[in-house]
Amino acid sequence: MTTRSETRTALDHLLTEIEHRNPAQPEFHQAAHEVLETLAPVLAARPEYAEPGLVERLVEPERQVIFRVPWQDDQGRVHVNRGFRVEFNSALGPYKGGLRFHPSVNLGVIKFLGFEQIFKNALTGLGIGGGKGGSDFDPHGRSDAEVMRFCQSFMTELYRHIGEHTDVPAGDIGVGGREIGYLFGQYRRITNRWEAGVLTGKGAGWGGSLIRPEATGYGNVLFAAAMLRERGEDLEGQTAVVSGSGNVAIYTIEKLTALGANAVTCSDSSGYVVDEKGIDLDLLKQIKEVERGRVDSYAERRGSSARFVPGGSVWDVPADLALPSATQNELDENDAATLIRNGVKAVSEGANMPATPEAVHLLQQAGVAFGPGKAANAGGVAVSALEMAQNHARTSWTAERVEEELADIMTNIHTTCHETAERYDAPGDYVTGANIAGFERVADAMLAQGVI
Ligand code: NDP
Repeated sequence: MTTRSETRTALDHLLTEIEHRNPAQPEFHQAAHEVLETLAPVLAARPEYAEPGLVERLVEPERQVIFRVPWQDDQGRVHVNRGFRVEFNSALGPYKGGLRFHPSVNLGVIKFLGFEQIFKNALTGLGIGGGKGGSDFDPHGRSDAEVMRFCQSFMTELYRHIGEHTDVPAGDIGVGGREIGYLFGQYRRITNRWEAGVLTGKGAGWGGSLIRPEATGYGNVLFAAAMLRERGEDLEGQTAVVSGSGNVAIYTIEKLTALGANAVTCSDSSGYVVDEKGIDLDLLKQIKEVERGRVDSYAERRGSSARFVPGGSVWDVPADLALPSATQNELDENDAATLIRNGVKAVSEGANMPATPEAVHLLQQAGVAFGPGKAANAGGVAVSALEMAQNHARTSWTAERVEEELADIMTNIHTTCHETAERYDAPGDYVTGANIAGFERVADAMLAQGVI
């Protein structure tokens, strides 16, 4: 029988090899460390998982596509961006994961997101594999026509690699309903197929699911509520700090407010807003979803309860709960120390990997309930899988039905993570629980399907 310390040594060797074989991909290294460092107990307890080659296959994407995306701006100038699709693991179902359009996108970022997605999708229990894609295109300040031409060029290559039974992309940073519309239109034009299940996040009138836009934020709040319930508390009357002001942040604030909490912040890359009366969602949606503006104009229009802090850290605002909903590594150990000093009770990740490993460690040491993104923000991809199910059945469900399913899925994910952590002697450690539970499901399928 392999001991935990022998297993840990083998995992350390593998992590060193991952760094050598994937140079200059710090985000992917970070994500691999985060998962592999928690797997020693399960590999030691279940010898079949320690089979040579299983974890090595898991950390190597099944396929990685990189392509040129040329497009013309409104002045006729040609720009060349880079497109990516990493099809990481399809043991449980078609590859599933969003597309990110942001200047910081590179292969390492897409691989970190795709790797996380494998375990997240496994946790939903809905039969979806893990993938991710995107481009270093920056949509900020671009006209609708420019975004459309970019999306059409991007899909002109991507269509070869996707399909309802193969790989089903969705949105992520910089890719919302507008972009999914342009991408779907070009896919339909090139293939001459009405293949609704090829993309999720579509408009409700043409194959989209109700509650998909809300699902990630709503799901994260439900996960935070479940963590609080374990401690005999609920959301009523709690103050919450939320970062970001995009899709995830907006619907996080909406659900927090509906459940009686007071969400007092939002942010974007220019700075943050603190509003002691609670964020006015109608105003925020108008600025972000309609005008595609910046958060400083929220403070200008809201009146005396709100102020804009240029730059700065949203985590300086005292609160009971913190829900990071912008981007990776946005909450570091200094921020964690500030949150702890201010008495934070729970941190739940709406974004992917927003807390650095040092921050997570500090929060857990201080006894703060910590919900890792792959569990806490899985509601988005879960409702995407429900969108695929509706497309397959050529039907559409009511908002109430989708919301009920979402609530059940989030409760199940919470229970699974909680129970798995207890089973492996790590009570209350949702990071270990999520990683091991997701790993077990994928590893079982990989073992059953042979060395491929
Ligand atoms: P959006 O593009 O709708 O919003 C992103 C928000 O985060 C914006 O306010 C943006 O500000 C801010 N932001 C992005 N990058 C940075 C940065 N480098 N520095 C500071 N602020 C930044 O994206 P989503 O809301 O969809 O995604 C947010 C996070 O949630 C991501 O980590 C994503 O992977 C994750 N996620 C999203 C899901 C979904 O269903 N959409 C599902 C699961 C996870 P600015 O406009 O100034 O750039």
